[in-house]
Amino acid sequence: METNEKTTTNFIKDIIEDDLEKGKNGGQVVTRFPPEPNGYLHIGHAKSICLNFGLAKRYGGRCHLRMDDTNPEKEDVEYTDSIINDVKWLGFDWGEHLYYASDYFEQLYEWAVLLIKKGLAYVSDMTPDEVSATRGGPTWAGQEDPGRKRGVEENLDLFARMRAGDFPDGTKTLRAKIDMAAPNINMRDPVLYRIKHENHHRTGGTWCIYPMYDFAHGQSDYIEGITHSICTLEFEVHRPLYDWFLDQIAEPGRVRPRQIEFARLSLSYTVMSKRKLLELVETKFVRGWDDPRMPTISGLRRRGYTPESIRDFADRIGVAKADNVVDVALLEHCVREDLNRRAPRVIAVLNPLRVVIENYPEGQTEELDAVNNPEDESMGKRKLPFSRELYIEREDFREEAAGKFFRLAPGKEVRFKFAYYLTCTGVVRDDRGEIVEVRCTYDPATRGGWSQDGRKVKGTIHWLSAEHAIPAEVRLYDRLFTAIEPENTKDVEDYRTLLNPDSLKVLDRCLVEQSLKGAKPGTQYQFERLGYFCVDHDSTADRLVFNRTVTLKDSKGKD
Ligand code: ATP
Ligand code: MG
Repeated sequence: METNEKTTTNFIKDIIEDDLEKGKNGGQVVTRFPPEPNGYLHIGHAKSICLNFGLAKRYGGRCHLRMDDTNPEKEDVEYTDSIINDVKWLGFDWGEHLYYASDYFEQLYEWAVLLIKKGLAYVSDMTPDEVSATRGGPTWAGQEDPGRKRGVEENLDLFARMRAGDFPDGTKTLRAKIDMAAPNINMRDPVLYRIKHENHHRTGGTWCIYPMYDFAHGQSDYIEGITHSICTLEFEVHRPLYDWFLDQIAEPGRVRPRQIEFARLSLSYTVMSKRKLLELVETKFVRGWDDPRMPTISGLRRRGYTPESIRDFADRIGVAKADNVVDVALLEHCVREDLNRRAPRVIAVLNPLRVVIENYPEGQTEELDAVNNPEDESMGKRKLPFSRELYIEREDFREEAAGKFFRLAPGKEVRFKFAYYLTCTGVVRDDRGEIVEVRCTYDPATRGGWSQDGRKVKGTIHWLSAEHAIPAEVRLYDRLFTAIEPENTKDVEDYRTLLNPDSLKVLDRCLVEQSLKGAKPGTQYQFERLGYFCVDHDSTADRLVFNRTVTLKDSKGKD
């Protein structure tokens, strides 16, 4: 496994370095990230983005961003905009090299005509369903399409009429004439063009025939002078076809893209297919593509992930040729490490319980020093107001303090962080017998949270001054799915039955320290003892909303 992009090698780097050594492509390295704008980008895409932009940077080349927008039906400008935004946010720059496969439609059409003229493509009268039904199988050949017998002139005429809109959807296709008995099924006269009387979000009504992904992808790379076309493993079996197309169209002296495949990223407890992510959005199981439970880049951003932590994650998982599932705990580890360095510590009480200090003067407030980040002294200190009435976490008090419970309990003394030692003297209950208030005394000689006489306490808890704390809503997240591999779980037909019904918990009566007033959406904090949190854009002028990014430690039962 890789740990550092800058120093370690991988098989893709080996290939590129070998090409450079041989002086291929005039010593240039040009890569691209080619998303189809039919959904939001996810953490798997981030792996590919970091890889492609990272390699271009390492070898002094460039990386293009190309929208692979050949399918008019599912694509949308909303998706294009989100992709541009997400790649930028991750910290990558394509300069002027933003491209759209739809800009190549005319060129692709001309290449299709060239294939017809070479006798290597023909118009078929089969429907797409008939084409797949006659494709054959792994051990038996497909059937020859009657269209195969058409002459060049007839094919040119029919293809022109397909473009002109003379035929309804699905009635004709253009197929490559390769080999219906080829062992690789992708070589059995693949469809190059299909008829779709459908407006495209960029080319409008200009076209009613659209190239198949396979006929567009490799040629788009060729048009852009991509030297290394890096893609995921499922395209390995398509490589001979891409090469076949290039053999027919490539001009001598021009860069010919070399395709290299790597294993796609799968992450535990989530799904990564855009179709499924869209389903979660459309059925409203999540609140949108940027719901903080989603593995999308926009979801991770909203959750409080930093670009640095995602890039670090991509470096650590490295690239390999074999599929495997990466534990989401590694992603969480990366963000924890990053936020530990940069996030200021603040105090929040998620489930408040009132504390009254009997020997503290009424109406008095004092300001105590609190360290902003023990990992980084340059982040300084702030003042925390302390007064007679405080709030602590309900969880930090127990009437029966058995075993290893070292927090507040009747007769017990604990440290209130940055403040004093307090001893619990009793509780106040409401009519139903529920504890509504804890009574305490404090030791004035322990200011700052340290005793002069060397007296030790076992527990330290956080608190807020009742009068000064401000209200907040806090959203806690758990895994989106209950299974490690929701798409690949034995005896489960519908992955949606594995959705975790408790993946979101909203706490709407939380308190945070007053220094957070006006905190901007997207700002990250460590709430002392509770984890890393990020201000959500649902916050208003008088009500802050926070998302928990991650707990302080690898959760599994620890507090
Ligand atoms: P779908 O989910 O619809 O199959 P896709 O994930 O293939 O779509 P694209 O927009 O075609 O989405 O992907 C753009 C690029 O990102 C491709 O080069 C693809 O190889 C890469 N990519 C997509 N998913 C992953 C993943 N999980 N891990 C690594 N790379 C990925
Ligand atoms: Mg794809």
